Amino acid sequence: MKNTLYMVIPCYNEKEVLNETATRLKKIYSKLIKSNKIHKKSKIVFVNDGSKDTTWEIIKELHENDDVFSGINLSRNKGHQNALLAGLLTVKDYSDMVISMDADLQDDINAIEKMVDKYLEGYDIVYGVRSKRETDTFFKRFTAESYYKILNFIGGEVIYNHADYRLMSKQTIEELAKYKEVNLFLRGVVPMLGFSSTTVSYERNERLAGESKYPLKKMLSFALEGITSLSIKPIRIISGLGVLIFAVSILMLIYIIVRHQMGDTVTGWASVAVSVWAIGGLMLLSIGIVGEYIGKIYLETKQRPKFSIKEFINKTN
Ligand code: UDP
Ligand code: MG
Repeated sequence: MKNTLYMVIPCYNEKEVLNETATRLKKIYSKLIKSNKIHKKSKIVFVNDGSKDTTWEIIKELHENDDVFSGINLSRNKGHQNALLAGLLTVKDYSDMVISMDADLQDDINAIEKMVDKYLEGYDIVYGVRSKRETDTFFKRFTAESYYKILNFIGGEVIYNHADYRLMSKQTIEELAKYKEVNLFLRGVVPMLGFSSTTVSYERNERLAGESKYPLKKMLSFALEGITSLSIKPIRIISGLGVLIFAVSILMLIYIIVRHQMGDTVTGWASVAVSVWAIGGLMLLSIGIVGEYIGKIYLETKQRPKFSIKEFINKTN
């Protein structure tokens, strides 16, 4: 085995950080190659996700000056997950293991060697897990925590505090390629692959420069995507709720009849108004949730390609 390591780094408007990220990764690579842990043909691949700034120009320049850097240029912005997938599926034919990482150095690059060590020990998947989230705001920590709980509740096998910083062997990416869904939620699907896996913990840093490319709106839709792509439990919950509410209404009916037989009729428009609003709201919510899934079916049946690659620059000899 040659132990060729390819790193896949999605980049969207990352001109502020790219050169620094490249320099630091190169250092790690030199060390790993020197110690014979990875093959000298290992590469660092930046995936340009339709950036509007000079990201692609910087990637091309890096590639021209140093063989270790490669680049994939997508036809337009497709989002982090698709950019990542484009990278994984493209480089799997050239490498034995692939590490995916963000461009902004929030993921500690010292974990790379630990991941490679685990791979050399025989693990197929190594998850990078954040040991603490002090650099995140309280809001982000709270929402993230609740989110993991929801995902696990609906039956996902999501690794706690793991984002998309992970090592995957060639074989596991070959398996991942068989998952044909248009909206692939990597964090949920990778643990479903099976194979031997382990974790490596690291501290999450502040973004090196620039700002987050994940505004709240994108984060929410990503979160929803995760839930609906992992399970149909929300629909089951709706059915359960329907049964429960029906049971309550029967109990109320019995109560009203009994009171009526005893001579006093239950009065009050307030209870009627409240129940109409409550049931109405619940129904709308339920239709909305079911609608999410129907929308998903619609998008999935079209089977549109997840990304288009305009260029792949990679010096292999
Ligand atoms: N990213 C991408 N396409 C997008 C948005 C983000 O490729 O449409 C990349 C981005 O360049 C970065 C990674 O995804 O390398 C994570 O994004 P970011 O650091 O902005 O997210 P955060 O860490 O704030 O969650
Ligand atoms: Mg980031």
